[in-house]
Amino acid sequence: MVRTKDDQKPMTKKTAKDKKNNDFLEFKKMSWKHIDALDRDKTIFFLPISPLEEHGPHLPVGTDLLTAKDTAIEAMKRIGTQYEDITCVLLPSVPVGFCKFNSDFPGTVSVSSKVVKEIIYSFGSALARHGFQNMIICTYHMALSHLKGIYSAMDKLRQRYKMNICEPWSPVFYDGRITENEPKLGFDTSKEVHAGFRETSLIKYQYPYLLDPIYSSLQSIYRDVSSPKFVGKTFKEIGLSDGYIGSPAKADADYGRWFFHFTVDTYVAATKDLIHKRPLPDLPKKVRSRMKLLFWE
Ligand SMILES: [Zn+2]
Repeated sequence: MVRTKDDQKPMTKKTAKDKKNNDFLEFKKMSWKHIDALDRDKTIFFLPISPLEEHGPHLPVGTDLLTAKDTAIEAMKRIGTQYEDITCVLLPSVPVGFCKFNSDFPGTVSVSSKVVKEIIYSFGSALARHGFQNMIICTYHMALSHLKGIYSAMDKLRQRYKMNICEPWSPVFYDGRITENEPKLGFDTSKEVHAGFRETSLIKYQYPYLLDPIYSSLQSIYRDVSSPKFVGKTFKEIGLSDGYIGSPAKADADYGRWFFHFTVDTYVAATKDLIHKRPLPDLPKKVRSRMKLLFWE
């Protein structure tokens, strides 16, 4: 069995039935025999997916990917502790997403929304063809074209395989629940769009050694990227020469801790909905319609 606390530990020949509380399995370390031995109804796959993209001069390009994976792992541990009969399986982190708008910086790797759709569908259908039904998509990248790929792949997997699948974070991101729940800070956090206060706080909490100290001298910069005048423009074309939107200098590790665990809570709640066959989180209708209007790029 694969124990994730010690990533280096070699796999033994135990089956998933030997799973102890607080453990989860790592897909890439399992043989097809071990995968085949999993209970179809009691296994939930977690797929972290987010692009590598510039996050200002102070944060790693893997900020979204690291956060998606770390929060997924915390959520899987909590589910493992609370539900003895459920097995959570971590799929490898997929470093892919649509982020054309900041591709004029080195470090950004953007793929088309069609590719995002293809990847999600390929993972989902590869599992569903063998009877697996349950999957949670973990992404921290909230660009609508990226979500378009994810949501249309999930729709197709529901239609073709009746999969129980959801992506829990974007509904919370787009319906205002972060602002409603977060500690009161005395400034408008809704303008912290990219590599600003929220993400810098997250990295300051989770990976302080990856945060470049220059963060504390960065000036606040704001842009309404949803404004029609900026449509189709890149970050540099709208004057974001350092690649961030918000106030990184205000970063606070305590807020980072709150934000991290709020994300974990969101994943845990969605996983419980899935286990108990309750309705799964979905994007607000108006965001869904806006997303539909976007071109496949
Ligand atoms: Zn990000």
